[in-house]
Amino acid sequence: MFKSIRLKITLVFVLAVVLTEIFAGLFVTVRSVREYHKAFDELIAEVLTSDMRKTLTETANAVTAAPAPDGGESIVLSEPGPENVENLKNIMLGTDILKTIPGMSLAILDGNGNPMYQNDESDFYKHARVTEEALKGNEAVNNRFSGKAIEYAIPLKDESSVQFVIYLRDPMTQQNSLISRLISIFVILITVSAILMIVIALMFSKTLSAPLKNLASQAKKLADGDTSALSPAQGNDEISELTNALIYLSETKRENSEKAISEKTKTETILQNMSDGVMAFDTNGNLSHINPEAMRLLNRKFVDDITFNKFFKEINADITIESLQYMPSDDPVERQVMIGEHTLQLSFAPIPQSAGDGGIIVIIHDVTKHEKLERARLDFVANVSHELRTPLTVIKSYSDILADTPDAEPELRTRFLDTISSETDRMARIISDLLTLSSLDENTNYKRPSEEIDIRSEIEGLVERLSLTAKKKEQELVYTPINDVPKIKGDRGGLERVLTNIISNALKYTPTGGKIQVFSRTMYNDIIIKVSDTGIGISKEQLPNIFDRFFRVDKARSRDKGGTGLGLAIAKQTIESVFHGKIMITSELNKGTDVTITIPLPKNK
Ligand code: ADP
Repeated sequence: MFKSIRLKITLVFVLAVVLTEIFAGLFVTVRSVREYHKAFDELIAEVLTSDMRKTLTETANAVTAAPAPDGGESIVLSEPGPENVENLKNIMLGTDILKTIPGMSLAILDGNGNPMYQNDESDFYKHARVTEEALKGNEAVNNRFSGKAIEYAIPLKDESSVQFVIYLRDPMTQQNSLISRLISIFVILITVSAILMIVIALMFSKTLSAPLKNLASQAKKLADGDTSALSPAQGNDEISELTNALIYLSETKRENSEKAISEKTKTETILQNMSDGVMAFDTNGNLSHINPEAMRLLNRKFVDDITFNKFFKEINADITIESLQYMPSDDPVERQVMIGEHTLQLSFAPIPQSAGDGGIIVIIHDVTKHEKLERARLDFVANVSHELRTPLTVIKSYSDILADTPDAEPELRTRFLDTISSETDRMARIISDLLTLSSLDENTNYKRPSEEIDIRSEIEGLVERLSLTAKKKEQELVYTPINDVPKIKGDRGGLERVLTNIISNALKYTPTGGKIQVFSRTMYNDIIIKVSDTGIGISKEQLPNIFDRFFRVDKARSRDKGGTGLGLAIAKQTIESVFHGKIMITSELNKGTDVTITIPLPKNK
C-alpha cells in the first residue's frame, strides 16, 4: 500500500508526531495523578498530627461519670455513644480535609463497622478494604494509582478494642475531570497535528520525490536510447550524484553494446565470407546459426527443420549430440559425407560453456577437389608403373630369349632386336612425355623463352611433314587458312608439340581414305586453330576423360600406333598454362572428331 516514497515519508512523519504526542500525554497524566496523591498524603499528614490523633482517641473514649455516693470512685454512667460520635464529627468537620477537598465522604463507624455518622448517602465504606483493616486496628490507605478514589481509615481504640473508625474517601473529582480534560485536549491536539503533519509531510516529501520521479522518467528515456534525456548535474546532493551515476551507467552500457554489436558484425562478416561452411547448435541440438557457404555445400535452401541428430542421421554422418558430450574438448570429431557430387569433411567441436550457453559448432569443408587430386595422383603413379612395366617386360623376355638361343635364325634375331629397340623408344617417349608434363606442372608461372611464332607457316610446315604419313594411308590432309593470323610471341616448341600431337591423332584415328582438315583464323581477339577428321570418333561417355593422363579409348590400338596416352594431357596443359587459351574436343562416334584451340591475342595488340 505504501509503495511510493512520498507516502512512506508522510506515514513516518505522522506516526512520529502522533507517538510523541501520545507519550507526552501519558507522561503528563501520570505525573498529575502522582502529584495529586502526594498532595493528598501531605494534607492527611498535616491534619492528622499526633495531637489530633490523641484528641480524637480521647473524644472517642470519653464517658459520663457520676460521683459515687460514698464519696469513692466515680461511677461510669454509660458506654461511649452518640455523644462521642457527635464530638468526633465536629472535630473532623472542623479540619481542613473536608473543606479543601470537594465531595469528600466522611463516615464514623462503630467497632462493628456500623455507620454512626455519614456526611452523605454513599456506602463506599461498607466493602472497603481500608475499613476492614481499620476494624482490625490498623490505619489503612487505598491510593492505588489506577483507582478512581483515595480511601483512608483510622481506628480509634480504647485499651482493648476499636471503639470507632473514621472513614474518609476522596472521589478525586477535580483530578478526574482534569484527566478527562487532558485526554480531550490531547485527542484534539493529536488530530489537528496529524492533519497538519500530513499536509506538511506531503509537501516536504514532494520536494524529495518530485526530482526522483523526474529522474526516473528521464532515466527511462535514456534507457530507450534518448542520450540527451539527462544532462550532467552540478550539485553536491544525492539526486545530482544519482543523475551523474545514471549518465555514467548509460554511457558504459552504450559503449559495451556498441562493442558487442561491432564484435557481432565482425563475426557475422567473417562467417558470411568464410570459404568453409559453419553451423552452430545449442545444447538441445537446435540450429542457432548457419552461414551461406554451409547452406550451399549442404544444398539447402531452408533450414527451419534442422535439428542436430535428425539432420546428421539424414546425411549419414553417424553422430549424435549425446555422443559428442563425452568427447575430450580439444579433440574435434571428424566425419566425411557425400552430398551429391561433393565430398564434405565435417569437424565437430564443442562451444565452451564460458563462451555462452555451450553447444556444438560444425565446420564443413569441401574436400571434393582434394579427394579428386589424391585419386588422380594415385591413379597416375599406378599408370606410370604399368606403362613402364609393359615395354620392360617385352624387352626383358626378348633379350632373355636371345641370350638363351645363341644360334637363333638371323631373321628372328633381327625381329627380336627391332622389337626391343621399338619398346625402348616407347619407354623413352613415355619418359620424355612425363618430363614434359612434369615441367609444365612445376613451371605454371615460369616464363618460358619467348619466340616469335608465325602460326600459319608453323602449320604449313607440319602439314608438309605429315603429308607423307597421310599419303601412306591414302588420307587427304588439307590446311585452310581462313584469314590472316597475326604473329604471336611464346613457346614455339610447345605449340609445335601440341599441333603435332593433335594432327597425328587425327591421322592415327582416321581410317584409310579419310579426310583431315586443318583451319586457322582470327576471330575477335582470338586465334582459332581447328583440326577436323572423319575418323572413328570418341563416344559421349569417353569424351569427358579425354584429357586425363594415360587415358586411351582403346589401349591396345593406341599402343600399336605408338601412343602414350599423354599427348592430349600435355596439349591441354600447354595451351592453358603457357598460352592462356582453351582446347576443346567435340566428336561423334564413327563420324569424326573436331579439336579446337583458342589462343587469346595479347591485349595491347
Ligand atoms: P595417344 O598417345 O594414345 O594418342 P592422346 O592423349 O593423344 O594419347 O589421346 C588420348 C586418346 O584419345 C587416344 O588414345 C584416342 O583413343 C583418343 N583420341 C585422340 N584423338 C582422337 C581422334 N582424332 N579421333 C579419335 N580418337 C582420338
